[in-house]
Amino acid sequence: MKGRKLLMIPGPIEFEPDVLQALGAPTDSHVSADFIEIFGNSLELMRTVWQSPTGQPFIMAGSGTLAMDMAAVNLIEPNDNVLIISTGYFGERYANICKRYGANVTILTTEVGDTVSLNTIEEELSSKKYKLLTITHVDTSTSVLVDPEPIAKLAKKYDTLSILDGVCSVAGEEIKQDKWGIDVVFTASQKAIGVPPGLALLMVSEKAMNVFKNRKTLVQNYYADFTNWLPIMEAYENRNPSYFGTPSVNLISALEVSLQYIVSEGIENRFLRHKQIATAFREAMLALGLQLLPFQKDISANTLTAIYYPENIDGGTFLKHIGNNDIILAGGLLPSHKTQYFRVGHMGSVNNNDTLATISAIESSLIACNYAFETGIGVKTALKILNS
Ligand SMILES: *Cc1c(COP(=O)(O)O)cnc(C)c1O
Repeated sequence: MKGRKLLMIPGPIEFEPDVLQALGAPTDSHVSADFIEIFGNSLELMRTVWQSPTGQPFIMAGSGTLAMDMAAVNLIEPNDNVLIISTGYFGERYANICKRYGANVTILTTEVGDTVSLNTIEEELSSKKYKLLTITHVDTSTSVLVDPEPIAKLAKKYDTLSILDGVCSVAGEEIKQDKWGIDVVFTASQKAIGVPPGLALLMVSEKAMNVFKNRKTLVQNYYADFTNWLPIMEAYENRNPSYFGTPSVNLISALEVSLQYIVSEGIENRFLRHKQIATAFREAMLALGLQLLPFQKDISANTLTAIYYPENIDGGTFLKHIGNNDIILAGGLLPSHKTQYFRVGHMGSVNNNDTLATISAIESSLIACNYAFETGIGVKTALKILNS
């Protein structure tokens, strides 16, 4: 039997059947009473998931990169200083976006698989006035998890706005946006939020909305301009019809279903589930004798794992065997290390069975590649943790 493959990449992921069903329902008018309720409810549910009762949510048609773009273009004016804290590919992308809008960009980075120290960040923030800084919560290219709370605190101390790229973390890694004082937190639908690709989701603090409202120059992108979308978000939340650009009716219907799942699971339970599955998966890989990126457990993401191929094993061949076992995994993304490692997404509605099936497929592929290890030790290690 083929065609019942398990998608275990860092987005898109496996989606709940109810979410997919909402996507396949007949498309309603974007100004019908029913859809206005769905949109309004989704905006309210976002505040719960982001833990940001005071934030301004935006639901946009687009991918995660639009969310990055939108946060940047609405807050940056030419010659603003922007600090990028980069832990991989998506930090580099953010630097390019900010440069495009005329910012003076400084990038802080480290060795692959490590984080930038708080001292280094504070030294830079105290050296000149930064308008904003960006943090990648989980860089999907390196699987490095950054603790955003102390960085947001530093940003506040130096009166700098903080933007968190949460595309690979929102609804998978702990985020308390208001409590931690982060100004913008965004994600995309296809990652831990659990909806097929096509929505960019942002939550913007009152402070950041005021910075936007006091800008002196026009936003350098017509579609992404908050000026056009703020009244739309406000109208839907007040359950009034409005129009600027046609919203993704079906995707937003699917989003409401998924957000309801997340809220009914309980956001704290959800973080714990991600942590347990990630721990089981990582320990299984170590038991197989494989090496992980990053090396340190306390900066390892809970939404995905990056694993080096064993020496003398060709990545393409290994992933082909995985495919033959009906599991889809992702190759490397970081240009300098692309051929040396692979990535496994374990977020959203991922469960213990998916995790065990994936570990088992990895073991089968290692056997096919003539890699020496104790058969079953990965599955056994994971089972112990999942049942604890
Ligand atoms: C996936 C991802 C993005 C880009 O999202 P797209 O939907 O592919 O545009 C940005 N940042 C991070 C951390 C991501 O994981």
